[in-house]
Amino acid sequence: MFLGKFAVVADPATGERIVLRVAPDKNTSVIQTETPMAGSVATSRMELSAYCALITRRIKANRERSKSFHQTYYGSLPMLAEPAEYHRSSGRDLEPQYSFLTSPPPRWFEPDVGQPVVFMINPDGAPNPQIMDDISAAMNAWSTVPGCSLRIVNGGSAAVCYSKDSNSIVFNNCEGQFPPSPSCARILALGGMNWDPNQTKVINGTTFVRAVTGHISFNPYASCDFGDHCIVREIATHELGHALGLGHSQFADATMFGVAHFDGRCASIHQDDINAIDFVYPATGGGPGPLTILSTSPLGIATVGSAFSRQLLASGGATPYGWSLVSGLLPDGLNLLPNGLISGTPLATGSSDFTVKLTDPQNVSVQKALSILVIAPASGFDSQFVSQEVPKALNPSQTFFITLRWVNTGSKPWNGASGFAVVSQNPTNNANWGGNTVPWFGSPVASGEPLELLFQAFAPSRAGIYDFQWQLYQQGAGPFGEMSANVRITVGDPGPPPSPPSIAGLSSLEAVKGTFFTYILPATGGTPPYAWQVATGALPGGLILNPNTGALIGTPNATGSYAVMVQLTDSKSQTAQKSLSIAVTAPPVPAVEITTSSVPQATSGVSLNQQLIAIGGKPPYTWAVTAGGLPAGLGLAAATGMISGTPSAAGVFNFSVSATDAESRTAIKPFSITVVPPPISLDLVPPLDGLKGSALNYQLIARGGTPPYTWSVTGGTLPTGLALNSATGLISGVPTVAGLFTAAITVRDQASVSMTSTIQIKLIDPATIPAVTRAKYKGGKKLIVAGERINSAAQLLLDGNQTSATISDGSFILKPIMLAAGNHQVRVVNPGGVSSAPFMFSVE
Ligand SMILES: [Zn+2]
Repeated sequence: MFLGKFAVVADPATGERIVLRVAPDKNTSVIQTETPMAGSVATSRMELSAYCALITRRIKANRERSKSFHQTYYGSLPMLAEPAEYHRSSGRDLEPQYSFLTSPPPRWFEPDVGQPVVFMINPDGAPNPQIMDDISAAMNAWSTVPGCSLRIVNGGSAAVCYSKDSNSIVFNNCEGQFPPSPSCARILALGGMNWDPNQTKVINGTTFVRAVTGHISFNPYASCDFGDHCIVREIATHELGHALGLGHSQFADATMFGVAHFDGRCASIHQDDINAIDFVYPATGGGPGPLTILSTSPLGIATVGSAFSRQLLASGGATPYGWSLVSGLLPDGLNLLPNGLISGTPLATGSSDFTVKLTDPQNVSVQKALSILVIAPASGFDSQFVSQEVPKALNPSQTFFITLRWVNTGSKPWNGASGFAVVSQNPTNNANWGGNTVPWFGSPVASGEPLELLFQAFAPSRAGIYDFQWQLYQQGAGPFGEMSANVRITVGDPGPPPSPPSIAGLSSLEAVKGTFFTYILPATGGTPPYAWQVATGALPGGLILNPNTGALIGTPNATGSYAVMVQLTDSKSQTAQKSLSIAVTAPPVPAVEITTSSVPQATSGVSLNQQLIAIGGKPPYTWAVTAGGLPAGLGLAAATGMISGTPSAAGVFNFSVSATDAESRTAIKPFSITVVPPPISLDLVPPLDGLKGSALNYQLIARGGTPPYTWSVTGGTLPTGLALNSATGLISGVPTVAGLFTAAITVRDQASVSMTSTIQIKLIDPATIPAVTRAKYKGGKKLIVAGERINSAAQLLLDGNQTSATISDGSFILKPIMLAAGNHQVRVVNPGGVSSAPFMFSVE
């Protein structure tokens, strides 16, 4: 950068505006280009445009760097009890797997050159005194992934906060990242890294930028969650994942999932985390991988009296390695050096089991159990055991065959003629198996050639557990080389021979067609497992015999009687047979039942249709009345069970009905039909007209109900002179009055059901009826109508129409009036509506 005070002036020589340093100091004496280059000239003078461009570039660069830094640390991914940045319902189309911290993804390049990533820990404010163990456990989780070169190391405690020079883990909010919170804060911790975008490397097809510093900060205001080590370890593991370049995983099971689990996982990572770290830090990237002991057991076969040397092999981790013995003992005469070399001269035969520990300079350690076998010297005779076929269980005194295989790893051939044989071991020279030596009669086995030895042996006569192990032998040199692998053979007491098998249980079975059936044939004796089969005959269709369980099972699909011979074979090939008869019967036919419960009330004179219903048996059914009788007018259809017809009489009728199916199964059920009469009614009576003094007769008509009826006047009165016959309903007599009369007439039947209707009788006095006697039309002028009993208030109707005719001297005069030629009619109507008869006249 550049400091000092500058002035913009005009170049005295050219007149151009330039920048001059006017207040130089000894710390900053030059203006220089952004990238100092060898041979660049220090100057106090610069062109104004170049100076302005320089300033602009530097401000921009500063801003970018600041932005990048803050986004990296403080805009990244807090581990939340319920993170804001992760919502399943957000609808984003995410691959369900790990993600990277940012794009382009950052990673540490140290593992690529075998270097660990080291974090310093500031224990100030740590939630517990064993915080270093918690952090180391989290680091170990990420550092021991198979196929992964990453190793992240606890560099120890130091009073670090965020530093550009070291990676840090803090608990005291030293960078002031977390605001004070009265309740337990949602953000548990933050983890992230800063990187150099100018250093890139392509790993697994992805371009990564180089991580420069990492930082993890636990929120002290969330310390209510830091009560146990397991929780602290999970948080540390998760945040370390961010500091290794990982973002949140979409797998809820992943430790890098955005929500803390607190499910007892402590410092562990799960498959998606492993996939992520393997992707970012593959072992093929050049790193050493996790610390691993490569040597396998047995380390080798040492020979008594001969020098022995083996270098323990390891890979991964950091070097140099340090080796130590943590349990067991090396063979007498051998020692383990810190550099991993086991050497010395063994003093005695035998197998030694021990566990070694490998520790690297980062204090990562692994252990492994190993063994060394020390054998006797063999004077050029040596062998390696290859394989064998040996039974593990035998009966006492049982004869058996075995095969043993070795390879000649010595320098001399194995020749039966010169005393080469196989001898028993464990214990040495035992004759448990029928002898202690098996001579070799085959061709000599040269150095490097295999030997396959097949021989017959005999189990001990007493039950027990015996070792079975053999070694090669050379006359003059004794047993040599690697023994066959020991087999512990159990020689059992066979006990009395099993009884022959037999089939117990039923001899005849009954099944129903269409109904699931199962019967397990019981077996006794013999030696399970058994096998079952049908020896002769055939099972009913739909039934099978389970060959393993002896179960007859299935749903028969045909009736009949079946005879089969079933056979059982036990595991010793002993057989037993049994005759079985299986009767498959038809399913029972349900009884016929008439389900109609009752017949509803009927009305005489009203048609009826009532269906009777039957179920069961074998349709069709035939119906009949078996007792009593149906009401007159009704019948029962034999083929359909339908009662129909029109009952003609009221009453209660009891009867029984039978339904008989196609196979003569019959059901009988009693029924009762109540036939009621139709309701009583009165025929409508029109208004009656009559003349005072003239006879009047009118017959009232009633219907329904239960005759005979009784008639009475129950409201108003009949005109004087008229009477109602209570037995016949006839109104008759000679009225002696005129006027309009209204009366209520009630008819009542034998059941006291009644009906009332109102009648109206209009009686006219003949003396009030006018009459027209003459009509005279004077063409085009007037019409004169004369008559008798014309009231002074009467009206004249001409051709049915009311007129404005006036009355003069008892005659109507209507004028002017024009009448068409032809017939016309006049009527005179007195007050009260009493009209004359029509009078017809003609106009010429
Ligand atoms: Zn997180």
